[in-house]
Amino acid sequence: MDRFLSASRWLVCFLLLPIIFSCTTAPISGRSQFILISEDQEIALGLKAYQDFLGKAKLSQDAKTNSFVEGVGKNIAAVADKPQYAWEFKVVDDAKVVNAFALPGGKVVVYTGILPYSKDEAGLAFLISHEVGHVIARHGGERISRELVLQLGLEGLNAAIANKSPAAVQGINQAYGVAATLGVLLPFTRSQEVEADRIGLILMAKAGYDPREAPKFFERMMKSDEGKTSVPEFLSTHPADETRLLRLNEFIPEAMKYYQSK
Ligand SMILES: [Zn+2]
Repeated sequence: MDRFLSASRWLVCFLLLPIIFSCTTAPISGRSQFILISEDQEIALGLKAYQDFLGKAKLSQDAKTNSFVEGVGKNIAAVADKPQYAWEFKVVDDAKVVNAFALPGGKVVVYTGILPYSKDEAGLAFLISHEVGHVIARHGGERISRELVLQLGLEGLNAAIANKSPAAVQGINQAYGVAATLGVLLPFTRSQEVEADRIGLILMAKAGYDPREAPKFFERMMKSDEGKTSVPEFLSTHPADETRLLRLNEFIPEAMKYYQSK
């Protein structure tokens, strides 16, 4: 069965690809991906979703918080190897929303409600680099390809993306965890979470933040979840459990090779 799948994948990637879509490889992990939309299309949709979001969001007016988040964000962006992205880091003033997300093209949003959990500079560095990991590995592109093509068919998908239709923008919102205003939570898959953790650890290490601090962010987040009826949005869109925490710890030695303290 595996051999059959890889043979058909080869057929699709190398024979049909030039016509319709491209096969890509995720950074760091080298995992093969099946993505039906181009990176440029994804960036354009991400920008539209970001502008729509900013039109409704209440941004923080606290200069200290803004420069804290922006400073850490810029350090991560500097090692993300995406010079074509116009990186921006915004803070939304809402203590009740425990969430953060990043959109294609390098737009990152952090809610004030998650800052007690990220707690310090290294914790925030992991939070941001994990989100950046989802974006540079194009996890939303994978998801939107799968879901929208089921809903709309390939032709419908292309039309929706070309027009930046509300369905396509909503698809990007859901695919990248811009959940707060939508009421629809689509979690990343477990393998995407593990991949974003691994990329995130390496990015934070390259930027000079100690990757050994990353598990503490999760421990704080998971502890807050105990005995509560409502799960923090971040955990709804980024599922975490003991297994994920174990994997995160397994990746730390790899990340330490890139780490030089400031
Ligand atoms: Zn995640």
